[in-house]
Amino acid sequence: MAKGMIYHKTDEEIELIRQSCLLVSKTLAHVGSILKPGVTGLQIDAEAEQFIRDHEGAIPGFKGYHDFPATLCISKNEVVVHGIPNDVPFTETDIVSVDCGVYWNEFYGDAAYTFAFNGISDQVKKLLKVTKESLYKGIAQAVPGNRVGDIGYAIQEFAEKEHGYGIVRELVGHGIGRNLHESPEVPNYGSKGRGTKLQSGLVIAIEPMVNLGTKRVAQSDDGWTILTQDKKQSGHYEHTIAVKEDGPDILSTHEYVEEAVKNNEYLSEIE
Ligand code: MG
Ligand code: MG
Repeated sequence: MAKGMIYHKTDEEIELIRQSCLLVSKTLAHVGSILKPGVTGLQIDAEAEQFIRDHEGAIPGFKGYHDFPATLCISKNEVVVHGIPNDVPFTETDIVSVDCGVYWNEFYGDAAYTFAFNGISDQVKKLLKVTKESLYKGIAQAVPGNRVGDIGYAIQEFAEKEHGYGIVRELVGHGIGRNLHESPEVPNYGSKGRGTKLQSGLVIAIEPMVNLGTKRVAQSDDGWTILTQDKKQSGHYEHTIAVKEDGPDILSTHEYVEEAVKNNEYLSEIE
């Protein structure tokens, strides 16, 4: 995936990426408003695709990307990422990572949120809270002069060292812009002061994937679905951000999705 040169973005380009990211964020909120036990991933996916296409010129960013068949990656419970929407109804003990990409005005936006139904255990709720918090620890390191390794280090220190969870190694965050995946790769683990230097204008997606148990993952026979080897749950939150002189500018937002979760009687808030 993310190999090759790094494209730093102008302020105008960053604003276009923000528009794509805001549409992703609103799509995730729409998902959060319709999720309930009994609904299927295929139903959610169809709703999300329509929601995106209702915005003139906007198209789903994942559908057709390396032949991925859907608008959303829907990754339930032990599925880490890249789950293909299916016809299995959600239940009240599921956690559901929904990853969404949009291509609009020649730029991609990318964000993800893991939803929790009301019946999940406190142990899994804590996993999600820590995963989400680790995302913001990583974002805080995305300042000019720091390096990519500082982002991964902050995420790993918090989720793995402090809380004992498993950080997935095989999948990483990425640069984003006119391409869904650009350089540099942004691992969720790393060493302070190592890797590509961060400069103003760099736009990256940061997306910790944090497992309750082992960090080890496997790929299913469908060629997409990544799941934990021990079948324990995995959390995933993602933002697209721009590195700017005055600090990280988060181009996507979880504000709408969290408002939708608050108003959905079947879902638990992760705070
Ligand atoms: Mg994503
Ligand atoms: Mg991504």
